[in-house]
Amino acid sequence: MIPIDLSGQVALVTGASRGIGAAAARALGRAGAHVIVNYLSSEELAAACVEDIRTSGGNAEAARFDVSAEAEVARAFEDVMKRHGRIDILVNNAGVSKDALFLRVTPEMINEMIAVNLVGPFFCTLHAARYMIKQRRGRIVTVSSIVGLGGNPGQSVYAATKAGLVGMTKSFAKELGPRGVRVNAVAPGLIDTDMTKGMDREAIAREIPLRSIGSPDEVAGAILFLCSELGSYVTGQVIVVDGGLYT
Ligand code: NAP
Repeated sequence: MIPIDLSGQVALVTGASRGIGAAAARALGRAGAHVIVNYLSSEELAAACVEDIRTSGGNAEAARFDVSAEAEVARAFEDVMKRHGRIDILVNNAGVSKDALFLRVTPEMINEMIAVNLVGPFFCTLHAARYMIKQRRGRIVTVSSIVGLGGNPGQSVYAATKAGLVGMTKSFAKELGPRGVRVNAVAPGLIDTDMTKGMDREAIAREIPLRSIGSPDEVAGAILFLCSELGSYVTGQVIVVDGGLYT
């Protein structure tokens, strides 16, 4: 078995102040990567994530930027390159969900979800990939959703953005594979984070073959696999992490 050792590597995780992103950042940090913990507004939570990684013996720093603002994304990656000289791993995790049945969907909801969930990962991938291509090495993991694979009432816009990420992932995998960059996605089911707080989790858990909702750490495990040498021959894939819900 190849051990997971990311020491000497630099990883940037978007939306890493809370939930799945924070769990992914901690997992990458524990594996030895220097982690850049991106956030938008939760400065204290991002600082706590950085502190956790340092306490576990790793290295990390926080970086505030809005993934949907191209100039901010460009500046963030330039800054990473200036200070660390490399970017090995990008986890496109930041996302928002504004649920509404289709007659109640507003143009603002559509614009915000497309900007953060779909355009944001494009901006981050474009800026990360330009450096990864020069290094002839990199790994990009994007957090999609089973809702992007199967749809869900009240989530038409969210589903469209998450389905878009599948097409983005597969296309970038084909473009960047020959340049040494692997590009994959994970599609979580129902995960215990702020995003799913208002849902009837018990009722949903009864529909899940493994009979429980997932933890952020369980998604982080799949992300870590894809970022590590264990996944060295995997690209263009969507790994579903949902306890069997979308089966
Ligand atoms: P969460 O707990 O609501 O956290 C969202 C994260 O995204 C926060 O760190 C937030 O930063 C950040 N963020 C939001 N807008 C941003 C922006 N414009 N720029 C930079 N960061 C931004 O969400 P989660 O449940 O962990 O979800 C993480 C990802 O997994 C999302 O893409 C979501 O769609 C996907 N997902 C979640 C589930 C689930 O059941 N939870 C299932 C499938 C897929 P601040 O804290 O600073 O605001």
